[in-house]
Amino acid sequence: MFCVKCGKEEETFNGLCIDCFLDGKQLITLPVHIDLERCANCEEFRINGQWVKETTATAAEDAAISKISAIDGLRIIDVGATAEELDERNFHVTADVNGELCGRVVTATADAVVRMKNNVCRKCSRQLGNYYEATLQIRSGSKELSDLLRDETVRYVRDRIENISSMNRQIFLTKVEEVQGGVDMLLSSISLAKSLAKELSDTYGAETKESSKLVGKTTDGSDMYRMTYLVRMPEYHLNDVVIFEENVYKLSGITKGGGKLTRLGDFHVSSIRRSQMADIKVHTPNDRLMEATVISRSAGEVQILHPINYSTVDIRIPGDADTGDSVKVADIDGTLFFVP
Ligand SMILES: [Zn+2]
Ligand SMILES: [Zn+2]
Repeated sequence: MFCVKCGKEEETFNGLCIDCFLDGKQLITLPVHIDLERCANCEEFRINGQWVKETTATAAEDAAISKISAIDGLRIIDVGATAEELDERNFHVTADVNGELCGRVVTATADAVVRMKNNVCRKCSRQLGNYYEATLQIRSGSKELSDLLRDETVRYVRDRIENISSMNRQIFLTKVEEVQGGVDMLLSSISLAKSLAKELSDTYGAETKESSKLVGKTTDGSDMYRMTYLVRMPEYHLNDVVIFEENVYKLSGITKGGGKLTRLGDFHVSSIRRSQMADIKVHTPNDRLMEATVISRSAGEVQILHPINYSTVDIRIPGDADTGDSVKVADIDGTLFFVP
């Protein structure tokens, strides 16, 4: 076939040889203006229907790339884009494409102005609207939850949620409320609240109880419940000095199944079941143990300065104890014990 434009004899497309066909042809096009939704709250951008965290320039480039349309038969091999800021809300973006058309390697460019439009993403609109599906109630076995345990628990939950929410946008902490006797954490997801209650129970040896409340109907007409997970923290805490069956121990471990106790004096280690842990009484919380200065040490013993009356006292230590200039001690009925 002859090209109707230049007369060359070769395969033709719409009557034109490949050179004439490609000459001046716009292989890819972009709309003149592209609107890019930006969440005014978390500043994430919506690209291809997904909210993503990106710099503004990268988001503008990705928004342009997502709107490229190519002529029939063009096989795109790779795409790039560069954004140039016009002002705070507008970017001029040039997209470049390498591709293949009719057996030829071709390149093409197109440009557009990407405009930022403020919106609120679904996650933020729920969060701002105080949406929640479950409450994690942290309480204590005693009357008040200590500040220490409250802060530690809230931090634990916050850290876990931060971790998960980077992969799952539906996960967030709606609210933290200090209430009489403890703290309530309102969460966006029932399964999240359930697994956090389980984790706290395993980590601290806490008791948990769940209850539900009918709050209405979902859009498809089924019942909608809100769950409450009560986590009752025990009075004891890991590393406290505790009394169990008239012996004094350090609570040296808490697991799903129970606890590990290290007896003060002979450092004998034993395990107890979860059901026995209710009988543990706190003697001295870990953060209230005394520090005593070490004067000298020998195998299995250290001589210390009594932290209150400054007399010298010899106390037993485990053979493998790694003691520094001071050691932690507990005063049990007037006798000092080394706390490993
Ligand atoms: Zn031609
Ligand atoms: Zn948002």
